[in-house]
Amino acid sequence: MIQSTLSTDLIRQPDSQPKESVKPSPQTYVHNRVTKSQPESKRTRSQRARERLRTKEHLATLAGEIHEPELADKLRRCHSRLSVLTCGRHIARVIPNFTCEFRLCPDCGRRRSRKLQNKYLPMMRAFLRHHHVTPVHLVLTQTHRKETRKQSAARIQSSFTKLTRRSFWKDNFKGGTWSLEFTKDKNGLHHAHLHIVGFRRKFFDIELLRSEWLAVTCDSHVLNLKPIQDIAAGLREVVKYVSKPLDIRRFGAEDLKEFLGLKNMRMFGTFGEFRDFCKSFDPSDNDGGEVSELESLSRDLVEGCACPQCSEPLFDLRMSAKELPQFYERIEATPSPPGQKERKQRKNRDRTPLSGAKTR
Ligand SMILES: [Zn+2]
Ligand SMILES: [Zn+2]
Repeated sequence: MIQSTLSTDLIRQPDSQPKESVKPSPQTYVHNRVTKSQPESKRTRSQRARERLRTKEHLATLAGEIHEPELADKLRRCHSRLSVLTCGRHIARVIPNFTCEFRLCPDCGRRRSRKLQNKYLPMMRAFLRHHHVTPVHLVLTQTHRKETRKQSAARIQSSFTKLTRRSFWKDNFKGGTWSLEFTKDKNGLHHAHLHIVGFRRKFFDIELLRSEWLAVTCDSHVLNLKPIQDIAAGLREVVKYVSKPLDIRRFGAEDLKEFLGLKNMRMFGTFGEFRDFCKSFDPSDNDGGEVSELESLSRDLVEGCACPQCSEPLFDLRMSAKELPQFYERIEATPSPPGQKERKQRKNRDRTPLSGAKTR
């Protein structure tokens, strides 16, 4: 996917402004806006499967270059042979022969982010039921400095901790989750962003939040806030950075080396009252059953079961990772038989964990 990027020269712009000037010119806002990535849903599953293959091959090649043959081998074996449960028109489940669990592996990342969604969505829904709050997606960015990714991550996390201790923040937010994203711009400079699902207590002036962020970072007022209409989609949007913390397309051998040194860096977390809520969450207080049901439904599927989308019997197709995009293409090209109504679940198709090969 095309990552959100910020223009570096514009990021530096606040340096040239007096610090007291909390409100930059309108022009600065336009240029400093965090540009939105191309929505992932616009690409087909076959295109995404091909991209995952390319990403993995790229990573395996880099691993070879930095003399990490084991990692290269693990990446090449991961999801290389697949057992695909299909009715011929839908893919109900994809079972890989082997999973590498490497943090940058796009296949393993998708599984990890699905797990996070299954874990946190019921908690978020329950939290929204219990509290009078509005979920928002907040992106916090910082100015670029010459530093390593580790330093960049530590800097933005420490600014965020400071922000959450301020009374403005406490008055307006009741906690949430954060995830860390790194991007590399055209000039090869790294940027760290924090993507936050925040539970807003009440409406506030965004300029006040900008000035708070500027106060804790000392040099950055760049942020983006939008309300989340659908909490499942909002959470999905944020946890995708757990599976894609970096823009791999611009990734070189040195980047991989640096990333391997970041072993224990946390990429996702909870904060504020939501964090305490999660600790004491009782799963029976749960209307996120939809997700967990689908998850268990998917796990229980075997050859001969009815396709969850059309009820036709499922059969097991064995294929290599390279054949999967072609198979998706065939499925994408197969029109639905006239008059056949697929189940309502289809509505959730983008999200359902019905198969390991689902879009996310
Ligand atoms: Zn993997
Ligand atoms: Zn089907």
